[in-house]
Amino acid sequence: TITPLIAGNWKMNGAMASLSELQALAVLLTTGEAPRAMVVVCPPATMLAAASAQGALSGILTGGQDCHWEAHGAHTGDISAGMLADAGAQYVIVGHSERRADHHETDDMVRAKVEAAIGAGLKPIICVGETEDERDSGKAENVVAAQLAGSVPEAGGQHEIIIAYEPVWAIGTGRTPTYDEIATMHNGIRHILTNRFGERGATIRILYGGSVKPINAREILDINDVNGALVGGASLLANDFYTIISAV
Ligand code: 13P
Repeated sequence: TITPLIAGNWKMNGAMASLSELQALAVLLTTGEAPRAMVVVCPPATMLAAASAQGALSGILTGGQDCHWEAHGAHTGDISAGMLADAGAQYVIVGHSERRADHHETDDMVRAKVEAAIGAGLKPIICVGETEDERDSGKAENVVAAQLAGSVPEAGGQHEIIIAYEPVWAIGTGRTPTYDEIATMHNGIRHILTNRFGERGATIRILYGGSVKPINAREILDINDVNGALVGGASLLANDFYTIISAV
């Protein structure tokens, strides 16, 4: 059985002061019942070192929100996977739909980033998901299959990787697929992973992301082949995030 993982993606929100929410989460996690999930917080890169140091005291792990595909070089404003590791990160989100949209990231770029992350000893959280048009036209599963084929490198069969299914239209909208739709997609992703990586594919966590809230977390996390969640908005407040973690 796979230990579920709940990851919070703060996106471009928060400031050093928000680390007080992390402190509040640490108090909840260490005073309440021991969490049944691994807990990862992905703050903006400027807060990563502080968050990692703070999280280490309470078992909260950290991750970056993106990395470059090269280890170093003339790439103003970019951050390498090794730098994230140096700041204490163990994970990194790659190929988030906001980066695919805002920065025109392609599957090839995402795959190179995943390889860079693995090379730096990070566990990549690889995001895939269809747009609303793609779902409405019945293409959701084909789109996700193509993203997986293009974004997941062969090295994914030898190193720990995590897949996050995040339907683009469910992100920040308060809308989610039906539970059947989530189950069908996660089951399809599981088949793709086991076809490609054999038994190892059965051990890869598949997270659901997109409007996961305290009110729907339990039902979503109960679905077969949902091995955790990637949480945006609801990860910014310690109480909400703790409620989601406790729903595992
Ligand atoms: P929301 O939880 O705010 O919908 O964001 C989901 C997401 O994009 C996490 O990466």
